[in-house]
Amino acid sequence: MADEINNSFDSTPVVLLIDDSKFVHRILGARLRSESISLIGEPDGKAGYERAVADQPELILLDLDMPVMDGYETLRVLKEDPKTRDIPVIVLSGMDSSQDKVMAFDLGAVDFVTKPFELTELRARVRSSLKMSTLLRMLAQKAKIDGLSGLYNRAYFDERLQEEYDRAIRHGHSMSIAMIDLDEFKSINDTYGHPAGDMVISGIASVIQQECRSIDVACRYGGEEFVLIMPETNPEQAFTLCNRIRERCAQMSWSQHPNRAVTLSVGVVGADDGSTISCTPQAWVEMSDRNLYQAKQSGRNRVIASSVDGTSIQVAKAG
Ligand code: GH3
Ligand code: MG
Ligand code: MG
Repeated sequence: MADEINNSFDSTPVVLLIDDSKFVHRILGARLRSESISLIGEPDGKAGYERAVADQPELILLDLDMPVMDGYETLRVLKEDPKTRDIPVIVLSGMDSSQDKVMAFDLGAVDFVTKPFELTELRARVRSSLKMSTLLRMLAQKAKIDGLSGLYNRAYFDERLQEEYDRAIRHGHSMSIAMIDLDEFKSINDTYGHPAGDMVISGIASVIQQECRSIDVACRYGGEEFVLIMPETNPEQAFTLCNRIRERCAQMSWSQHPNRAVTLSVGVVGADDGSTISCTPQAWVEMSDRNLYQAKQSGRNRVIASSVDGTSIQVAKAG
């Protein structure tokens, strides 16, 4: 099941301390224990940056004065990398001139605490930064999610399609996408009312999400249309997955209209080897849309899949 949509904001936050002083690691380890955070540490900027990429902490406490790669350079590297740039950084430093502070803030630090620090104050600043970072993550998460279906929204689809497409080309992986459209959905709204239609949209969205693997990206494209990005999946495998979704949806029973099933049509397009892809992601969307159109034209409740190079067409339909 696609579980990438992360709604768990209440687990113990991880805080990464990057400091070359063993004493600071020891004292913060002891004093921040009562804050119900999980403190991890690294002794220098390079190791700290690598740990931040790997562990994705909620907050970084960064010393400025360190050998090899100092705190300013570490901050610059952290803020340049999309994988770490949104992690808030509190600078801990023995240097406390205005110039040092201005430079740290200009580089993207959220706070500056002067050493030797007053532990009560540091704890309060850690708490406040964590609260802010949780709120910002909730906002960012919300901006990607469609409210009715709980799936990713169209804007996120556009962004992820390009990313997955680039990744497939770079690694020569297979990849497929599917455009899914509910059949004669207007008549559900017209006959049973808009709220019943809304329940169908969210019910079908749950089935799509349950049938997907964790690396698949299920999105609501708009209205009663959904789109699936299936990384490392060739068109045949994508066809099998979509046909399973089609069958499950057709068999569902709906409390508000038990005698009226809801079916869907799917257009799939994909490539066996990403390194051979030559068209744009937009062209993939158009091709899957053409297959969907064909599925509608030839009677609905069916899946039509093809390879981006136009070969190997598979069709599955009801009955
Ligand atoms: P087809 O099989 O050709 O796809 O027919 P259709 O009736 O599904 O397609 P059409 O595009 O004519 O109608 C789509 C309907 O979806 C019209 C619109 O009112 C409805 N719709 C779009 N968004 C929502 C929504 O958020 N909630 C509800 N209840 N209905 C929606
Ligand atoms: Mg439609
Ligand atoms: Mg429709």
